[in-house]
Amino acid sequence: MAAESTAYFEGRYMPLTEAKISIFDPVVTKSDIVFDVVSTWDRTFFRLDDHIERFENSCKAVRIRPPVSATEIARISAECVDRSGLDNSCVFMCGTRGKYKGGAALGDPRECENGFYAYAVPYYWVVARERAESGVHLHIAETRRAPNEAIDQRAKNFNRMDLTKATFEALDHGADASVLLSMDGNLTEGPGFNVWIVRGKTLLTPGDNLLEGITRRTVFDLAQEAGLRTEATDLKPDDLLNAPEVFISSTAGGIMPVTRINDRPLGNGAPGITTGQIKTRYWDKRKAGWHGRRVDDLIKH
Ligand code: PLP
Repeated sequence: MAAESTAYFEGRYMPLTEAKISIFDPVVTKSDIVFDVVSTWDRTFFRLDDHIERFENSCKAVRIRPPVSATEIARISAECVDRSGLDNSCVFMCGTRGKYKGGAALGDPRECENGFYAYAVPYYWVVARERAESGVHLHIAETRRAPNEAIDQRAKNFNRMDLTKATFEALDHGADASVLLSMDGNLTEGPGFNVWIVRGKTLLTPGDNLLEGITRRTVFDLAQEAGLRTEATDLKPDDLLNAPEVFISSTAGGIMPVTRINDRPLGNGAPGITTGQIKTRYWDKRKAGWHGRRVDDLIKH
């Protein structure tokens, strides 16, 4: 029998299609959940400990205490991949508020029994794979990213109506994805990715009002190795529109060149050379086991 995507839900493993949540759960009624997504390639996790650490920080930021330790999360994630029979996967780990004692969503959130679930799905790209290779078309959205003061974007959350609205804008303009500005007009990020500008030997990325991606952290590391300067700073739409090279970074796709913004070709319209170098380093080093933890080692212990 072919393996099936597997979830760890309510304390046991099951086919993903059987893991179901009540329509009264605060996950549904309030988006009261934080999560993280880590990937495997050739049954090897990339920066699993960093993803778990970010997940635990997201939980702390919204006062969710998942009933599992970091070691248990690592093992559960590995079991989900193994039982799903996937070599290349994305694994979701989710911390939930849990039901309110007073009914559907009434009562004291401090008294909720917090939960945890996880699941593995086949590896995916944040835009169509063909575009992730040949060049992403970006749109700078009118919709603004919800400010950190309302929803802390460093805590990975599902309060994504701003991102969804911006995605409609992108698709309506024939682009693949949107980049959103902050309330004060600085570039932030897009649905599922961080954004980068290459200017000579310097890589620039927005510094505020965004999820600090693990792939973004990886770009800082790879750039340093390659002798490139990096800076997280305030950037405006013109910085993006006039950039010689742009790329996006995500667990779901790695390093992806951008070749069109607001329906105009960027530079000469081809993926940038520095982008290509960073992308090659990213995949070569991953395949060589850099920051890797093997599924087989995790399920043995
Ligand atoms: N920004 C947002 C809103 C995201 O959801 C994601 C990842 O899914 C990212 C950025 C990129 O983060 P990472 O590199 O950890 O996947």
